[in-house]
Amino acid sequence: MDYSFRDGLDFAKELDRLDTLHYLRDRFYLNEDEIYMDGNSLGLCSKDAEEALLKAFNVWRKEAIKIWGAENGRYFSFSKIIAEKLKPLINADTEEIIVMGSITTNIHQAAATFYQPTKERYKIVVDELNFPTDIYALKSIIELKGYKPEDVLTKIKSRDGRTISEEDIISRMNEDVALILLPSVLYRSAQLLDMELITSEAHKRGIIIGWDLAHSIGAVPHDFKKIDPDFAVWCSYKYLNAGPGATAGMYINKKNFHKSAGLKGWFGNKDESQFLMSHDFDQDKDANGWLLGTHNIFSMAPLDGVLNLFNEVGIENVRKKSLHITAYLMFLINTKLSKYGYSIGNPREDHRRGGHVCLEHDEAYRISLALRDNGVIPDYREPNVIRLAPAALYVSYEEVYRLVDILERIIVDRAYENYSLKRVTVL
Ligand SMILES: *Cc1c(COP(=O)(O)O)cnc(C)c1O
Repeated sequence: MDYSFRDGLDFAKELDRLDTLHYLRDRFYLNEDEIYMDGNSLGLCSKDAEEALLKAFNVWRKEAIKIWGAENGRYFSFSKIIAEKLKPLINADTEEIIVMGSITTNIHQAAATFYQPTKERYKIVVDELNFPTDIYALKSIIELKGYKPEDVLTKIKSRDGRTISEEDIISRMNEDVALILLPSVLYRSAQLLDMELITSEAHKRGIIIGWDLAHSIGAVPHDFKKIDPDFAVWCSYKYLNAGPGATAGMYINKKNFHKSAGLKGWFGNKDESQFLMSHDFDQDKDANGWLLGTHNIFSMAPLDGVLNLFNEVGIENVRKKSLHITAYLMFLINTKLSKYGYSIGNPREDHRRGGHVCLEHDEAYRISLALRDNGVIPDYREPNVIRLAPAALYVSYEEVYRLVDILERIIVDRAYENYSLKRVTVL
């Protein structure tokens, strides 16, 4: 894509006029006096999400138990209804997608299913920069299977503390590896891994591989027909904007449908025999066989609503704006902020970066506090990273321009010096 940018507020305003997604801002609840740059941690509330939640609430209020049969059993089949709307985001079949739990529970489910260690093949490959909960979940399944995490977990080291090299991952795919779990986008540096290459190299060696899409779903389109992973998990509250703790998602490749779900529950039973109440589990024939308990309707409804918005504009267009607006932010950082000790920690090439910009500064912690007092909601990650996510659906170019002005002022005015270095709980 051609990224030619200029400094100046007028240019930012011109970019907003040219932005075909700009109109979506009206569909979100934005605070007038706040620049929200934290959509990679918790996306904003939309009118679409609100409407779907209130609708579900009213069906419960009026219909009580009959909610399960209302609208042709829509809420009883809510995972399938939403799977249909998630499908374009990852280019998978509806039957390969379920909506349940959280990333953490879904990694438990995936590892319980796919980690089948033998004497020869028992290692699990992860990366040393991964999010803690992914590792905790794997460790507990390793222990449940009677192994020791320190014997099993193999962590790919980062060469620069920010990124993981695809080459290093592939060179560790030895014959002792049973399973690989990696993030699509690294949560600190926004590095987007070459999922297709890594997946195909794993499969060449008979290794099962799954992806954690926490930082890519809703920002980066995935083509699972091409990538062909064994499984994937994601949450719905980051770029998907489905609300705090919204129900997460899981993908099971159809070639794995014959496998026995590691964790079983009655919603994983075939619909036709679920209410026969037999004690013999009759696993559903597709990804729905991995479902556990009753759908948490009110944590799913906002997702159902907000996905209409994604499908209205198309995930490819979301990605296009996301790449463009993050490139604009990087341009402004380079031209206006580098003299103040700010630097960019994410990869620059489009095919290697996700939806946020990783801004590094030795004073990142105190700057992030000063940003808050200046009407910006950033997100800080130890030891020196401010994550800035100009979410494509609701952040404007003008806001990015003003953000960079504020970042400059905080240093010029030494505003960050008014804050203590002592960490307060997140934020
Ligand atoms: C946000 C995030 C999580 C969060 O897990 P939950 O179970 O949804 O709380 C897990 N893994 C990664 C990589 C994340 O970015």
